[in-house]
Amino acid sequence: MEFSYFTRKSDLSGLEGREFDVLVVGGGIVGAGIANILAANNLKVILVDKGDFASGTSSNSSKLIHGGLRYLAQGHFILTRQLLKERNYLMEHLDFVKGMNFDVLIDDSSWSKTSIYFGLILYNLLGGKLALPHFRKDGYSYDGFRGRFTYEDASTDDAVLVIHNIVSSVLQGGTAINYLEATSFEKKDDLIETTLVDGFENGTYKVKSRMIVNAAGPWVNSSYSQYTSKKIDNFRLSKGSHLILKGDKFNMDHAAAFRSHIDRRQMFIIPKGEVVIVGTTDRFVDSPSSSQMDEDEKKYILDSLRKIYPSIDESDVIGSYSGIRPLYGSGDDPGSVTRNFHIDMTDKMLTVMGVKITDYRRASRSISKHIGFILKRRLNTEGLPKILYRRDETDPLDSALRKECALTVDDVIRRRLGYYYSTVDQGKSRIETIERRISDFKAQERKRP
Ligand SMILES: Cc1cc2nc3c(=O)[nH]c(=O)nc-3n(C[C@H](O)[C@H](O)[C@H](O)COP(=O)(O)OP(=O)(O)OC[C@H]3O[C@@H](n4cnc5c(N)ncnc54)[C@H](O)[C@@H]3O)c2cc1C
Repeated sequence: MEFSYFTRKSDLSGLEGREFDVLVVGGGIVGAGIANILAANNLKVILVDKGDFASGTSSNSSKLIHGGLRYLAQGHFILTRQLLKERNYLMEHLDFVKGMNFDVLIDDSSWSKTSIYFGLILYNLLGGKLALPHFRKDGYSYDGFRGRFTYEDASTDDAVLVIHNIVSSVLQGGTAINYLEATSFEKKDDLIETTLVDGFENGTYKVKSRMIVNAAGPWVNSSYSQYTSKKIDNFRLSKGSHLILKGDKFNMDHAAAFRSHIDRRQMFIIPKGEVVIVGTTDRFVDSPSSSQMDEDEKKYILDSLRKIYPSIDESDVIGSYSGIRPLYGSGDDPGSVTRNFHIDMTDKMLTVMGVKITDYRRASRSISKHIGFILKRRLNTEGLPKILYRRDETDPLDSALRKECALTVDDVIRRRLGYYYSTVDQGKSRIETIERRISDFKAQERKRP
């Protein structure tokens, strides 16, 4: 099966006037999971993303598959239990979701040693195992450090998870097109006509569908208000930023979770290939496009980290990235807004908010049940969504271009092969090779039947 620049072209050439059961706006983790389930149910589904697949929040997370110790501390036992169940499934079934040990650092800013001890026992129990955490005093030597407990969660490449779901939906007959923006929706009898604008090679198309799934992440309100002329109350945007640092000053045997001495917020230090990722911030923002790290966020992360690693300075920073959490709920501070998901059904548009990457399977199943209700069709969701695609690692760049529809260097570096988030030069030394391979690949067009 091919899913590439060429299949994209042929999908577009037959698009005008086509009718689908469901049009999914947004190819982040939410859209990808839903499209995968709908295609498995033989529905005619098309997913579009205005940028590359996973180019929104779903490539800019902390990349953890976890139950959230913080949610447990806030008393969200059911949510934590559900997330841990999802974590266990993903660890068991996907080789790119890998177990990762975390040290919880005990110091002047942390919860007490006793709370963490019992908290971790409960966390392990909710995750399905009885394990007593061991306390160790080694590993760190900064002022106020008293020791650490170790527990296991998991990490992944968030964008790769999205891409594997999208390719799985295509393998089952779904259509997925990146760089195609849904710009307007118009009701036409029992159908909705959506205008789609190609941002890669120009062109405008109109397709019809029986319903719309608005999985536009931080941008859900744009699609929602275009369709309903209203806004969703209680929809909140919170920006989170991470610093990417050279790994050589961190002699860590595990990832670490600690509380910033500045405001007692939980933060993570996560080793990733040649680098270490540290974050995150959590601040309300007004615009879904405010995805650059601010200077004060950088200062906050560096100052928090320097308490633990005093020798770290600006020269260790090699990059940063930011994402916007599309949350639904109330709360004066972003950390208190629920991390559970919310589904809004207005007429034939179903809007989804607040889905954590870890929770995407549970959310996709729940959303699919709503879709079945609107389409008056019973959908099978058991055991779904399933990943049916495995990347051939002998030539991952070839797989990215031929089977995962990477179109640009950025698609490859950030969202297929992850160099941006895991190498010290953030993939810069590979740019020339990737450019040449993209251009060689496209040059095959003349030889194709
Ligand atoms: C800093 C940070 C750290 C996080 N860490 C974790 C973590 O460790 N673990 C975890 O489980 N979760 C984490 N999350 C939460 C998780 O990343 C998000 O909740 C999730 O990625 C949201 O996915 P989404 O599909 O709703 O949105 P997105 O991934 O943003 O997808 C929406 C897509 O819609 C597209 N789009 C928008 N408008 C249109 C349009 N009109 N036409 C076509 N396409 C459109 C966008 O281009 C985008 O690709 C984190 C979030 C942040 C911000």
